[in-house]
Parts: sequence; C-alpha cells; structure tokens
Amino acid sequence: MAMVQVSGLRKSFGALEVVKGVSIDIRDGEFLILVGPSGCGKSTLLRMIAGLEDISGGRIEIAGRVVNALSPKERNIAMVFQNYALYPQMTVAQNMGFSLEISGMKKAEIEKKVADASEILGLNPLLQRKPSQLSGGQRQRVAMGRAIVRDPDVFLFDEPLSNLDAKLRVQMRAEIKALHQRLGSTIVYVTHDQVEAMTMADRIVVLRAGRVEQIGTPLELYDHPENMFVAGFLGSPS
Ligand code: ADP
Ligand code: MG
Repeated sequence: MAMVQVSGLRKSFGALEVVKGVSIDIRDGEFLILVGPSGCGKSTLLRMIAGLEDISGGRIEIAGRVVNALSPKERNIAMVFQNYALYPQMTVAQNMGFSLEISGMKKAEIEKKVADASEILGLNPLLQRKPSQLSGGQRQRVAMGRAIVRDPDVFLFDEPLSNLDAKLRVQMRAEIKALHQRLGSTIVYVTHDQVEAMTMADRIVVLRAGRVEQIGTPLELYDHPENMFVAGFLGSPS
C-alpha cells in the first residue's frame, strides 16, 4: 500500500517552475530518500508534502486521503529540519510535549508519550535541560523526539544531519536507521549527500532540476543507472 502518493506534482514561484511533474508512490514503512544537487527542488517537494507550501498542480495523498487543500496540522505528518528549531526557553521535556499540549491532549497522556519517546532516543537523563545545554547530536535527538510523540503517518526529514560534524553524522545515520526499524514508520528523507542516500534508503529518488531521473533501491541505482547523470551523481563523492 502507498502511504504517500504524489502524482504529477508541480510548483512554480512566479515564472520559475521548480518542480515539474513529479510522481512517486511511497510505501507504508518505507525509508525513501530524495537526493539531488542543491536547488533541484528537494525541499520544495518535501514542503508541499508537509503542507507548508501550496502546490501549483497535481495531487498528494497521505494514508489514502487527498491532502492538497489541508493545512500541515490536518495531515498527520511530522517534519524534522536541519536547524532543529527547538524552543530555547523550554526544557527538553517541554519541547517534546509542546505540540501535544496545544492540541489539547491530557497531561498524563503527554507525559507517557514523552517518556516513551525519550526512552527510545536515550533522552531520559536530559529531560530537564534547556537546548543551550545540549550538544548538536542531543538537539537532533530532541527534534526527532518532538516528531515521534505525535505518532505521525509520515516523518519528513530535510537534511537533518547537515549541521553536524562528520563523525556525529555517521553515528546519527545509524541512529535514524535503528529508529526506523524500531518504529516501522514511513520516512521521506531529503539529502544532497550521496553516501547518506546509499547507506540509509530502502529506495532512492534521484531528482534533477525538478524532475525524477530514476527511482530504485541503492543497489539498482548503483548497478543499473539509467543515465549518465544518475551514474555520475551516485558514483562521485560529495
Ligand atoms: P533544494 O532543496 O533541492 O536545494 P529547493 O527546493 O530549496 O532546492 O529550491 C528549488 C528552487 O526553488 C531553487 O531555485 C530555489 O531558489 C527556488 N525557491 C525555493 N523556495 C522559493 C521561494 N519561496 N521563492 C522563490 N524561489 C524559491
Ligand atoms: Mg533544500
């Protein structure tokens, strides 16, 4: 079953068309990575799935429901950005529970969800700290915790590791993979890092200038690139 179905999706900013008819079926439980050079439309595509950007044409279905006209809140998705966007004045626990609080969930239920998520992410010893007292990797974990507590149909990640140093990036890749295996969730993950795409994805979508060049498993793309762009992009180091 497709958890997210993107059909003929288009986006223009004024006269500039940046997403030019993209169709992708994202399976339930799949870790799908959108990869491509800077400016090819990855973030715009993800933001349209999230509902943060209006679409200019086409259709988006999430969990069997057309969401074209729905706000981000109505879509049951959770987005993790590269700059974390944590609330500096709140503790880790408050950051994780905040979106549930404003949705009107009962306090006891929020505490349970925050406790479950912090257990999964190893955040228990840090729950009373403020973001300024955390390392980059810990902040990234809190950002993921905020997404997990909402129990979304789909997790959307936009270059979540690009602010981390190389060593931590490798470690966080493994942690995100482990999280995916543990939760069995559907993940759409944007990166311009070929190694990240090849090592983390169930399937990779290679984008170029707003169009899909190829979709396949890392092995399929590596062994049978359909054209020189895919071969060059996934073959050369970043
Ligand atoms: P990527 O994430 O692959 O680097 P983006 O989706 O951010 O690419 O951007 C794709 C293109 O759309 C770029 O040329 C960018 O300048 C343009 N773009 C993105 N957002 C806007 C906007 N709000 N207004 C005008 N142009 C935009
Ligand atoms: Mg981007």
